[in-house]
Amino acid sequence: MSDKDPKEWKEQLTPEQYEVCINHGTEPPFSGKYNDSKLEGSFKCICCGEELFSSNSKFDSGSGWPSFWEPISEDSIEYVSDTDYGMVRTEVNCKKCGSHLGHVFDDGPKPTNQRYCINSVSLKHENDK
Ligand code: FE
Repeated sequence: MSDKDPKEWKEQLTPEQYEVCINHGTEPPFSGKYNDSKLEGSFKCICCGEELFSSNSKFDSGSGWPSFWEPISEDSIEYVSDTDYGMVRTEVNCKKCGSHLGHVFDDGPKPTNQRYCINSVSLKHENDK
């Protein structure tokens, strides 16, 4: 997946980011800074800066994680079947760098009925440093 070796990512990322993005972990619900965010604009991959999601498709899912009904471009998303924990889920990664973002479910709102359930720590709002 990733084009960098783990040592390089460890230098670039915080331990929390490394756990989610590289180890495919999940931040605790309602813990992330973008869960309740109403910021306008785009959310980028924390690892490579690729624009992934827009505030235009962000909605309040009540799940405790930032939720979007579509990515900015399907071309920037990698979908992987995830059967961990006895569930069949679809994992969502950044296609450019392989960083883990979250999962997508088919119980989202119109028009796509998709719910991209994304970890805040995997994202960086365009206005954030
Ligand atoms: Fe990326």
